[in-house]
Amino acid sequence: MNKNFQQAFQNKTRSADGKPGADYWQNFGKYVMDVTVAPPSRIISGSETIYYYNGSPDTLHEIYFRLVQNAHRKNAHRDSKVTSGYFTDGMNIISLMVDKKEKTSALKIAPGSNGTREFIHLDKPLPPKTSVEISVKWNYELSEDSRSDQPRDGVIDSTTFFLAYWYPRVDVYDDVNHWDQTDFTELQEFYNDFNDYDFTIHAPAGFVVWSTGELKNENEVLSGMLSGKLNTAQRFDSTIHLITEKDFASMKQLVPSGAWKYSAKNVTDVAFGISNHFLWDAGGVNIPGSRWGRVSVQSAYAVDSKDFQKEVDLGKKCLRFFSDSLPGVIYPYSKMILFNGNSFMEYPMMVNDMSDPDYDDWVATTAHEIAHTYFPFFMGINESRYGWMDEGWAAFNELNYSRYELDSIADWVFTNFYVPHNLKKARKKLTSPLMTESTQLKGLPYEFNSYGKPALAYEALRSLLGDTLFKKCLNQYMLRWNGKHPVPYDFFNTFNDVSGKNLNWFWRAWFFEPNYFDLEVKNISVNGNSASITISNTGGLPVPFKIQVLAESGIETFYFSANEWESKKEITVQVKTKSKIQSVRLLHGVFIDWNPKNG
Ligand SMILES: [Zn+2]
Repeated sequence: MNKNFQQAFQNKTRSADGKPGADYWQNFGKYVMDVTVAPPSRIISGSETIYYYNGSPDTLHEIYFRLVQNAHRKNAHRDSKVTSGYFTDGMNIISLMVDKKEKTSALKIAPGSNGTREFIHLDKPLPPKTSVEISVKWNYELSEDSRSDQPRDGVIDSTTFFLAYWYPRVDVYDDVNHWDQTDFTELQEFYNDFNDYDFTIHAPAGFVVWSTGELKNENEVLSGMLSGKLNTAQRFDSTIHLITEKDFASMKQLVPSGAWKYSAKNVTDVAFGISNHFLWDAGGVNIPGSRWGRVSVQSAYAVDSKDFQKEVDLGKKCLRFFSDSLPGVIYPYSKMILFNGNSFMEYPMMVNDMSDPDYDDWVATTAHEIAHTYFPFFMGINESRYGWMDEGWAAFNELNYSRYELDSIADWVFTNFYVPHNLKKARKKLTSPLMTESTQLKGLPYEFNSYGKPALAYEALRSLLGDTLFKKCLNQYMLRWNGKHPVPYDFFNTFNDVSGKNLNWFWRAWFFEPNYFDLEVKNISVNGNSASITISNTGGLPVPFKIQVLAESGIETFYFSANEWESKKEITVQVKTKSKIQSVRLLHGVFIDWNPKNG
């Protein structure tokens, strides 16, 4: 355990049983914002007042800001390929006031930062349990091209925009690392405080806005007929087409005014899309236990999109599945908007997905982005450092939903997407332990450690604990850390605590050691209708496996959980069939073996 984590346990902000410590704290901002967007102009301008509360026991002498738009500057360091249309001048801070005092010229780029972190020294330090008022006026040019390698925001077409990371925000100051010093490099996506947002989006008449948050004035921005339809849609199971192609000629009557007022409480971010020629569908889904009863599911999409016609139906099924089955936690918001942009990205209450012509991939990626509702938004995950705590669960929950929707092909869809197929190359490059900080990894090693490998770790953990106990542990972890910032040890400790088992051997093998996937069949001995199989775990990862036996009476399959590897590197398992055994083989399932020659 590194020094920062040790300190957190000593300071009682974290505890050995995995619960938030007695002295756990976090900081918080109340954001009141105004933004103007008027396509086809790409200038986005806004103003905001942040009431930033210092919940820490420390006196803060600086405030660090996160200005993600600065990743678009030509000279900014990035970890993904971009096209020329990606470049802009970044966020232009017109003025910055602290407690009503002019501080614009005091804003400086943080040492070593690519420009996405800037800071000011406070004239008057901010003591514990006090607030500071920060007012910012800003503008930036929206990226012309949202089709870069990792597109997250930008122009979809000349009058359709998607805006993410669009406002200056205060960086996270936490109990483990203090100010978050990871830059935004277009690889990791989120580590944010839970804030309250009240904001107004000024858009021209005729443009619809789809945003995170509760729309407070739908009677003003939408025609009576349109707001009536939106409300009706939430109450019924069938999908209602709010805006069809026929409506494009009368958009200014349907959407007469352009000051869209939103409120979003206790969320980590807000994003929005805007268009004057997107189709708009809506439906409702009953989520038992939800404080809203029925959740509104909406989609906004291009006329030529082939898959978004069914997007509301798929979204509703995902919300039900994630609420009822796994993770089995009630969908926490009043709505989910599925926006047809150029990305595969998640935001609180929103997904920004490009169309996907392949049915199976469409199901899997939509489920994946919706699954992010829980990680990193229900739980305030530090994805910048630990991608596996966020993307790993999204990939795992995607796999679960795919198995429900796509049956037997789901495992293939998962491994095809998340497990490297060039195994020879993979073995050399992909053995970094999961605890390796995400900022240390690029390319395939980053992807594998953030998505495929942790999803498989959770799958192995489920095999070890069984469905019921696994879900109980996961639910406790989520309830304990909802609205907070868990670190890896809170996850390990909660599962140890709730399961009543010491799983440290499992955590060590999966998260701390440079292990890989390789089970080696050492010996098979068959005696009539029984067989004993000796298997060596050469790769070192505790994975479940199956033994498939072809006997005279047919095929029989025997399942062995990851528990087999608790204290042994080599095991001998026995199987007994109803009739004489003809052949025996080891099956890996989704845990694709990196050395298939030895079994
Ligand atoms: Zn994801």
